[in-house]
Amino acid sequence: MSHVLIIGAGGVGRVVTHKCVMNKETFTKITLASRRISSCEIIQKELPAGAISVAQVDADNTDELAQLITKIGAQLVINVALPYQDLTIMDACLKTNTPYLDTANYEHPDEAKFEYKEQWAKHKAFKEKGLLALLGSGFDPGVTNVFCAYAQKHYFDEIHTIDILDCNTGDHGYAFATNFNPEINLREVSANGRYWEEGKWIETKPMEIKMLWDYPEVGSKDSYLLYHEEMESLVKHIKGLKRIRFFMTFGESYLTHMKCLENVGMLGIKEVEHKGQKIVPMEFLRTLLPDPASLGSRTKGLTNIGIVAEGIKDGQKKKIYIYQVSDHEKCYAEVKSQGVSYTTGVPAMIGAKLMIEKKWSQKGVFNMEQFDPDVFMQELNKQGLPWQIKELD
Ligand code: NDP
Repeated sequence: MSHVLIIGAGGVGRVVTHKCVMNKETFTKITLASRRISSCEIIQKELPAGAISVAQVDADNTDELAQLITKIGAQLVINVALPYQDLTIMDACLKTNTPYLDTANYEHPDEAKFEYKEQWAKHKAFKEKGLLALLGSGFDPGVTNVFCAYAQKHYFDEIHTIDILDCNTGDHGYAFATNFNPEINLREVSANGRYWEEGKWIETKPMEIKMLWDYPEVGSKDSYLLYHEEMESLVKHIKGLKRIRFFMTFGESYLTHMKCLENVGMLGIKEVEHKGQKIVPMEFLRTLLPDPASLGSRTKGLTNIGIVAEGIKDGQKKKIYIYQVSDHEKCYAEVKSQGVSYTTGVPAMIGAKLMIEKKWSQKGVFNMEQFDPDVFMQELNKQGLPWQIKELD
């Protein structure tokens, strides 16, 4: 018997919930809780009667959440609310002795900067309680970390460089919309870029570095260097690493709209006064933009996310590409969500499954690449995210 509590009934929460129901031999009881009960009920109606229970909770409030965890007797918490809630949810898990999993690292609402520092600081507390907190079990972070661990385990004595390559050709027919939470997405994309080389972080202007990459099954796409959170843990855990970078594709229309919104101040995260009321421009923009969950039925195209690792094996130079291709329409047909939510929600369910089955078990706060990648890679193939490996010249 394992009772999982999923927090956050958004795009990713929908996929996690559907996938947990599909794996009901592992997740014998499932509760979906969110700030608005109505968001949970919409997902509940998509599933067979009695498949899940729903609850209302404000995850910013540690005590309220701890009470819910205790009341329902949850044995694992999957946090797919927003990164702002990571710390309060981790604290509620500590208070109730419950293992924890998330897909995005903590970000303070008033500062567009995400880092693991405050979550890693809870390592001792989780360790002392004998609990695992698994950080970043989405696609990137998540599967990309597992791909790096797999490359390290099976293909290299030392990895010298890693490029993480994230491509999405999804077309939803709107002039401008984001594939996941608009606030989180736009804060990430409009921030300065950063990569790591020879032990140092090097900062770039937003979109300053661009390269053309030929994505299998998709074709050549302009890919822009961004800072992305998995690099912070990978530089600690991959042996011999000299450089790591992250690239993401963007269409011309997306970039033009984003630049324009930024120029007029609509990406601001500080309060401004409007007709005697205080508003945060980015939050108001979120209200105007299409809800990412509503894009599912309209989105066509593919995602291709992977890593290229270069290094040494038995004294010889080696370069490999591990990647996964998903089709937005197939994702929607299976779980009523587009590919970005799907590729995040499936790994969140897999991480939780491995924790419940004790295939991944540690005490403390851990990142994905710190575990044996083989079991996770097998589950990806079984649960809807088959991957490929290519040796490159
Ligand atoms: P959405 O905005 O669609 O969903 C977030 C949900 O969280 C909403 O349904 C909202 O609830 C709920 N929520 C917000 N605040 C609270 C709160 N205080 N208490 C309880 N529930 C709350 O976002 P996504 O589903 O797109 O993203 C979910 C997470 O996944 C984010 O952290 C995002 O950064 C991460 N992500 C990770 C990726 C990866 O590859 N690692 C990729 C994409 C996303 P309600 O509807 O009830 O108001």
